[in-house]
Amino acid sequence: MWKYIPVIILALSSCKQKEAISDDNDNMTAPAWAIVIHGGAGYQRPDNHDSTKVATVEASLNAALDVGQDILSKGGSSLDAVEAVIRLMEDDTLFNAGRGAVYTHEGENEHDASIMYGADRNSGATAGTKTIKHPISAARAVMEKSPHVMLAGRGAETFAQTQGIELVDPAYFKVQNKWNRIQKVLQKEAAKKEEKFGTVGCVALDKDGHITAGTSTGGMTNKQYNRIGDSPIIGAGTFADDKTCGVSSTGHGEYFIRYTVARDIAARMEYAGEDLETAANTMVNEVLVEAGGSGGIVALDRYGNIAMPFNTKGMYRGYAGPDGREVLIFKE
Ligand code: ASP
Repeated sequence: MWKYIPVIILALSSCKQKEAISDDNDNMTAPAWAIVIHGGAGYQRPDNHDSTKVATVEASLNAALDVGQDILSKGGSSLDAVEAVIRLMEDDTLFNAGRGAVYTHEGENEHDASIMYGADRNSGATAGTKTIKHPISAARAVMEKSPHVMLAGRGAETFAQTQGIELVDPAYFKVQNKWNRIQKVLQKEAAKKEEKFGTVGCVALDKDGHITAGTSTGGMTNKQYNRIGDSPIIGAGTFADDKTCGVSSTGHGEYFIRYTVARDIAARMEYAGEDLETAANTMVNEVLVEAGGSGGIVALDRYGNIAMPFNTKGMYRGYAGPDGREVLIFKE
């Protein structure tokens, strides 16, 4: 008997919270939906974002939320929502993912992406690919159509091709402003501080109560030697478990790997009973700050609560749910 009591308490509290954020208050069992996205953390400050730039960023973030909202509010799956949102952001050259990926030291674009489904912890990732147009879709294919979790480089591209995923000539990813940036960085190798992060990520909760998290990036400007960051690493850049939360990270990837940031947020909730906000804040604003790792995360828990902490100047971010939406750039 006793072993059932925690389950009952959990179920009751789950109903209560879900009722609070449901779009159908008459039905206490109607699950809510929610979505949270990021477009990278870094040096977003009011003095380097004039009103035109702010409007552009807000339009891009809203377009991404529209796609997710449309799927989730109609009862679509969090998996479909995360993939569709990230595909759109991969096409948007504002972000450092897909078409807008930053350049490596060698003047190439190398993409990393991952996706995780919280219902069964199934996961897929691709790393260091140069010709996959939508890396998030390749990551999903690895998850669903292969016995593996991560495929890298040429192998990932060959696999993607067998799955009918679109490959493009590497020239497709050459975007002028990102090219100018690597030229500047190469000329001024010391200008490390100017490295801007701009990864994209999305976490969604669907009406069935399933959480999916996904992340896609071109990595860090000037990366060398086939460096792979945190974005395709399950537990570092991406994590999802219906029991606790979903997380997508952005920032200096080496620190997110070393501190298993995404997984640790979920683990704090699971083992220490912390709420999402406490767990996320502790990891980003205490653990990472102490370690010297800059960046942020977006996360949501199974009740649709949202957390978006970052320890940089700004982070492109936004969320939506039945009660409304918001897009943000700077520290408020
Ligand atoms: N985390 C990414 C990486 O280290 C970069 C970013 O988030 O902008 O590759």
